[in-house]
Amino acid sequence: MQSPLIFNINKYAINDGPGIRMTIFLKGCPLNCAWCHNPESQNSGIQKLYTKLKCIGCMECVKACPNDACELTIDGIKTDPSRCQLCGICAEVCPTKATEMAGKEYSTDELLKIIEKERHFFDQSGGGITISGGEPLIYHDFMNDLFDKCGELKIHRAIDTSGFVKTDFLLTIAEKTELFLYDIKLMDSVNHKNWTGVGNELILSNLRVLSEKGANIEIRIPLIKGVNDDYENISKTAEFIHSLPGEKKKISILPYHKIAIKKYEKLGLDYEEHGMSEPSVEEQKHILGIFYKYGLEAKIGG
Ligand code: SF4
Ligand code: SF4
Repeated sequence: MQSPLIFNINKYAINDGPGIRMTIFLKGCPLNCAWCHNPESQNSGIQKLYTKLKCIGCMECVKACPNDACELTIDGIKTDPSRCQLCGICAEVCPTKATEMAGKEYSTDELLKIIEKERHFFDQSGGGITISGGEPLIYHDFMNDLFDKCGELKIHRAIDTSGFVKTDFLLTIAEKTELFLYDIKLMDSVNHKNWTGVGNELILSNLRVLSEKGANIEIRIPLIKGVNDDYENISKTAEFIHSLPGEKKKISILPYHKIAIKKYEKLGLDYEEHGMSEPSVEEQKHILGIFYKYGLEAKIGG
């Protein structure tokens, strides 16, 4: 079975479905969104993160590295990628967590042990687990296995998906999923491809197929000024959601923010704004008004 690497387990999450939840973030994504808030989710492998502000220059990482890959410079610790084997020893010895590793493998049984410890919070609040990413639905065997086992334990299961996944598998996993958090980014496929790396045909057709099947779906729309906040895109999005069969879909608008820039720095990646900016509160309200005009239930936030 191809096991994903996990880069974060967020206990007590309250914005990723009903009740108190555990959100589990998997690495690996077929999209490459310019505004991605979790850049460590895009690459499916282990990555080393470094935060210069937390570094006290103690050299523990330099001394511990078995491959002489770390060096202390005036700009902080530099890692030679041609030497680094991503073993994680430097992160283990770092006293301040200036160095961290993103990506750890868990078997489904190991994850279930972690999940079951939070069971009483789920039971009391009507919560459960949400699998996010990255794109969780690229890991067929892992998702089938985990959701089968959670189903046996009667734990509520939600998936946060880009929808850019194989339709057959989406329909298979829908049989064992209580809630989909399904992203819509842009209605024009050429624009979608420019900003995310892929067209939107599969995403939109999968959403229709999933709706026809009667799946419980909430729509998530990242709102980025300069990308998808124009009237034409938002009204086409509202029109499309309104046309979907089944229960009326709830919509969460997730305004873009620049907090993630720090994560790009930690990964040693350049962050290019490409004209993207944060929508103001007034602009967010205006967007909500467009969805209301179509009779849709929309809110700001997850
Ligand atoms: S991950 Fe391992 S090889 Fe890479 S810098 Fe750290 S200790 Fe050295
Ligand atoms: S061990 Fe951590 S705090 Fe010490 S030099 Fe390395 S990165 Fe900086």
